[in-house]
Amino acid sequence: MTSKKIRTIEEMGEFGLIDHLTSGFTNRQESTQLGVGDDAAVINHGAYMQVVTTDMLLEGVHFDLVYTPLKHLGYKAVVVNLSDVYAMNAAPRQITVSIGISGKFSVEALEEFYEGVKLACERFNVDLVGGDTSGSMTGLVITVTAIGTALKEELTLRSTAKNNQLICVTGDLGAAYMGLKILEREKLLHAEDPGFQPELTGYDYILERYLKPEPRVDVLLALKEAGITPGAMIDISDGLSSELLHICKASGCGCQVYDERIPVADETKEAAAEFQMEPMMAALHGGEDYELLFTVPLSDFDKVSAIEGVSVIGNITDKKGLALLVGNDGNAIQLQAQGWNATED
Ligand code: ADP
Ligand code: MG
Repeated sequence: MTSKKIRTIEEMGEFGLIDHLTSGFTNRQESTQLGVGDDAAVINHGAYMQVVTTDMLLEGVHFDLVYTPLKHLGYKAVVVNLSDVYAMNAAPRQITVSIGISGKFSVEALEEFYEGVKLACERFNVDLVGGDTSGSMTGLVITVTAIGTALKEELTLRSTAKNNQLICVTGDLGAAYMGLKILEREKLLHAEDPGFQPELTGYDYILERYLKPEPRVDVLLALKEAGITPGAMIDISDGLSSELLHICKASGCGCQVYDERIPVADETKEAAAEFQMEPMMAALHGGEDYELLFTVPLSDFDKVSAIEGVSVIGNITDKKGLALLVGNDGNAIQLQAQGWNATED
């Protein structure tokens, strides 16, 4: 008998595992324009492109009902998917919502969840067109699929970054992670002493960034108005570092970004200080920001710099696989894909 080595999922890593499991598939349909490997798959309908993306959220892994209001959870479950559609520069059109529920949920609780789903549908002009409902033995399971459309020339992939393009990010990074850290800290203190009243005042910004992320459709509109078509684009769900590496890998290029140009809010810095943590660690590896990371031609520097909420943080290089973070002292370090929740996506 030959002994076959059993590999653990951990040694392969999340993205290695996805590559491994899906590499044996070949596309049979002419309409399959793009399969696994971007924020969404692309289906070619001739006159237009359709994008499809799905995300699963598990209780105890992605959310904790002790401090996550169900209405916020419903909203967030939808917008994290819409964020992937926007990252393709497509317009979301429809969603499906599937839930696995245990007996502990009341109808009222689920109504609250669906209020959040509804709010997201209204705000981003999408229709709930289906889903599935099942019993669950392991807590709440939520799977949302989002469908969107774009014209072929509008689509922005991870694979189309070009040497010398500028690297831009929207908003600020690391806030959602610090919001989560605060919620976890207060939960722990409450568990140790049930009389303890969680103290959340003063943390509004970072808590909101964690509990109620907003996809950056506003910036996409501003780019369109300014006549800028991004080169490559991805949404920042796993931390800046991991997303830069995705773009470099997919585009076969390198990048350098400058520490001092990475936008971090004062509230994020203050919270990081409470944990004796470098705020840059939250920005690079924290995740759940749902901001956009994109490239633009060097010639668009003035136009893109004028858009509110966009920071130019570096540039694409031709040094394949070399993703550098340049510090204030001019020293550069290679970025690592070290998301805090690497096994939890
Ligand atoms: P994002 O962070 O943008 O949601 P993911 O990191 O979840 O993207 O997924 C990366 C790519 O891998 C996507 O194209 C996604 O559709 C694909 N993918 C993830 N898990 C699986 C799976 N189990 N089977 C097939 N494709 C998968
Ligand atoms: Mg994404």
